[in-house]
Amino acid sequence: MDDLKNRYRQVVADIEAAVCAANAPQHVRLLAVSKTHPAASIRTLYELGQRDFGENYVQEMVAKAAELSDLADLRWNFIGRIQSNKMAAIVRVAAAVQSLGSERHARLLAQAAKVHAPRLPLPVHILVNAGDESTKDGVGMADVLALAHVIERELPELALCGIMAIPPPLMDANQTDAPELYLQLRALADQVGAGDLSLGMSGDLRQAIAAGTNCVRIGTALFGPRRNS
Ligand SMILES: *Cc1c(COP(=O)(O)O)cnc(C)c1O
Repeated sequence: MDDLKNRYRQVVADIEAAVCAANAPQHVRLLAVSKTHPAASIRTLYELGQRDFGENYVQEMVAKAAELSDLADLRWNFIGRIQSNKMAAIVRVAAAVQSLGSERHARLLAQAAKVHAPRLPLPVHILVNAGDESTKDGVGMADVLALAHVIERELPELALCGIMAIPPPLMDANQTDAPELYLQLRALADQVGAGDLSLGMSGDLRQAIAAGTNCVRIGTALFGPRRNS
């Protein structure tokens, strides 16, 4: 647990340092990605002040939420693959959904939220498949604004925050300036909903902050290697 606390302090310090180094300092939210890690680790970070946690698997999120139900202001952010038959379970527990990747899912999520969400509207990010990779879910960059319009005009149960992206791995992990694709994502996010950009993981935190991200999603650098789930 001491290792976990030290890694948490290190990640918070790394974010602060990268924000100071960025041309346009910004507020960067830390989403602690806790998939495959036990509820006890989440509780430890909560006690250090962390409130936002990211989960990828519905059943795992639901189980951890039950185990940690005494932590009333902890926020579960769903960042995993959405399945249409799990919508109700997602919106009952998640305070926000960052992985909304199609119009069909947007409509189904809005319907489920209307019936099952404890609070409306439900904050969502559009998941962008920034590298147009066939193996990844999400909307191509060219189609993001069309989906944003559908959500804003037709789905009042959803509050559109912005976009979330998992770009292809960087060619040079040591580069410190913002990659061109990251700057394009920043510009795209500015046109979507409240303009929030969720970009940056353990391996590209500095570059994402240099590009002006608002939210980094950090798993490995906090919790260590993932356990097999
Ligand atoms: C697992 C995951 C992360 C965390 O990745 P790390 O490289 O472990 O920091 C971030 N975002 C999403 C969507 C994930 O699935």
